[in-house]
Amino acid sequence: MAKAFRRPYRVGRSRTGLGGFATREIQKNELIDTYRGQMIDSKTADERDNRYMFEVNSRWTIDGSNRRNLARYFNHSCRPNAESDVKGHTVIIKARKKIQPGEEIVYDYGKDYFDIFLKPVGCKCDKCLEKRAAERAEKRAAAAGKKPTVKRGKVAGAKKAAPKKTKAVGAKKKKTTKKRK
Ligand SMILES: [Zn+2]
Repeated sequence: MAKAFRRPYRVGRSRTGLGGFATREIQKNELIDTYRGQMIDSKTADERDNRYMFEVNSRWTIDGSNRRNLARYFNHSCRPNAESDVKGHTVIIKARKKIQPGEEIVYDYGKDYFDIFLKPVGCKCDKCLEKRAAERAEKRAAAAGKKPTVKRGKVAGAKKAAPKKTKAVGAKKKKTTKKRK
């Protein structure tokens, strides 16, 4: 008895709209789904110009905009747990690593897509959100460090007081003996 392929994911709400979420544990390299759609030539693809074009090679592109193509719901990530793979004229999405149930399935859409669609609005994948949060925290910390302390009263004099402490910090680091308790 041949086993019919059952999708190991469901379509559900994600941060950016809809996304694909694992319904069971998916093993590394396991097939998750095939990117389905009409095979069209590059010229037609340029004319149609939608977000679901998957370029198979220089001549052919799959127009995956049909809603029956559930693989179109997988979102982009710069830290993906899945990847696309082109085999002949077939495009598959497979796991790059073990994926846990409930985890969103994401793959890297590639540089062209990123530059055209994601860069202008800011990528919302986990990696980019964490990166921007860290950058904001750093800026806040830097801004807080520059702020003159109100207690001193002298606003102008307090400006560059902090950096002078570096000597003391450097001296402390030279200690090689370990503290034992
Ligand atoms: Zn990103």
